[in-house]
Amino acid sequence: MLRIKCPYCGVREHTEFIYGEDANRSLPDPDASLHNWNNYVFARQNVAGEHLEYWQHTLGCRAWLKVQRDTVTHDITWTGLPHETPPQQKEAST
Ligand SMILES: [Zn+2]
Repeated sequence: MLRIKCPYCGVREHTEFIYGEDANRSLPDPDASLHNWNNYVFARQNVAGEHLEYWQHTLGCRAWLKVQRDTVTHDITWTGLPHETPPQQKEAST
């Protein structure tokens, strides 16, 4: 069973949360082509390994959070608020 650390409530069972979406994606430009919008809405990457995701603590504080999870082992290596960035991603972008 997954245990997710909510920044406000602490560690909780994953059954208190719902998966939101891939946190690595961003909205296309409003004037983007129909092809780009189609890809944004319907195309998903099936990542094997570390993946950054949005989850909501629906049976707790209802806050949205970011979860960095290994999709193969289900190890959760980081959780934070939606505006925060995992430490290794900060280092990689600087
Ligand atoms: Zn919470």
